[in-house]
Amino acid sequence: MRFDRLRLNGFKSFVDPAELVIREGLTGIVGPNGCGKSNLLEAIRWVMGESRPTAMRGAGMEDVIFAGTTRRPARAHAEVTLAVDNRRRLAPAGFNDADRLDITRRITRDGGSVYRINGREVRARDVQMLFADASSGAQSPALVRQGQIAELINARPAARRRILEEAAGIGGLYQRRHEAELKLSGAAANLARVDDRLEQLG
Ligand code: ATP
Repeated sequence: MRFDRLRLNGFKSFVDPAELVIREGLTGIVGPNGCGKSNLLEAIRWVMGESRPTAMRGAGMEDVIFAGTTRRPARAHAEVTLAVDNRRRLAPAGFNDADRLDITRRITRDGGSVYRINGREVRARDVQMLFADASSGAQSPALVRQGQIAELINARPAARRRILEEAAGIGGLYQRRHEAELKLSGAAANLARVDDRLEQLG
């Protein structure tokens, strides 16, 4: 799935609206220390549904909202939009009718996150599955953060296998299996309750 554009507004150090065009091929980000290079990568992970504040180098999810400086007040919300090329129709059914998908995540202080795909409100899971199926999820090995290569070299075999599985595009299947297992255990618990009732009645 090809990324076309990244729009940020109030996300971390990107207090003013900013739009980046992502051209075909390899993209590198250069700049002085602290100018926001890692924040850009985090914005991509965040809009894909990253839910761990630690992955955003914060204590809570609202820490991604511009926190203010001596000269500028803090913002009340942050928004990131990732525009992806869907001409190859890689998106799951239901979101597959447009050549371009604008995936937006917006967070307000105390209000949590809202996700939209082409303006339509969707669940976090829909966005996470969209990227998981396209092997470009928030934890995708395609996004290489600082220090990650050293981690990979030192990783245990199970962690390395996860990376290979993600690259093979089966991350979404694992997520679905996990959800199916939760439903199955819910159904088993309900059946046990029915049995108890029947015993009481009989
Ligand atoms: P380095 O090259 O040192 O790794 P970098 O270019 O990757 O730096 P980032 O780590 O992306 O830079 O950006 C760090 C900057 O972002 C810091 O100046 C920090 O104060 C700012 N920043 C992070 N979160 C927020 C926030 N919520 N509000 C305002 N500024 C923020």
